[in-house]
Amino acid sequence: MSLDLTQFVRNIPDFPIPGVQFKDITPLLGNAAAFDAAIEHFAQRYANQQLQAIVGIESRGFIFGAPLALRLGIGFVPIRKPGKLPAQTIGVDYSLEYGTNRLEIHHDALQAGDRVVVIDDLLATGGTVVAACDLLNQLGAEVVEAAFLIELTFLGGREKLGDRPYYAQIQY
Ligand code: IMP
Repeated sequence: MSLDLTQFVRNIPDFPIPGVQFKDITPLLGNAAAFDAAIEHFAQRYANQQLQAIVGIESRGFIFGAPLALRLGIGFVPIRKPGKLPAQTIGVDYSLEYGTNRLEIHHDALQAGDRVVVIDDLLATGGTVVAACDLLNQLGAEVVEAAFLIELTFLGGREKLGDRPYYAQIQY
């Protein structure tokens, strides 16, 4: 019988600001069986997709992306916040409810035509992952799917993603 991963996700009220119910995945990460189940679930989904890389979005996307890439026997590519990557980058600015954010990737991280899955811990409004997909498209990569542990369905990420394929293991 498969493990119910929702029991390892806890709700933290009023974090990081009043009114937000933050989904905290640290209990899942701290439980070897639960963490393994989450990675294995993704690995089975993407095993036969002829992917060249898993792309992780800083920072919790790294936690899931790196072990998934290892399990699939393919490379891992980080998408990072501004000023973190040492070599030449391309970047994209995207708007948040208040202000803007930026994501960057090394200009030579992928080859045109590479098939990738981009991964993050959680899909909320979708702004972050759409920006990541834009970066990957600029490099000519094919985003086979955007993958998340959790989707907060009431925040409209699905609509923001449009017809880009995505998948979440847990939905609230
Ligand atoms: P979006 O751009 O609105 O979809 O927000 C998604 C990003 O915010 C992801 O990188 C998440 O890690 C982070 N995030 C937003 N809400 C939560 C939460 O409740 N728990 C954990 N991460 C969150």
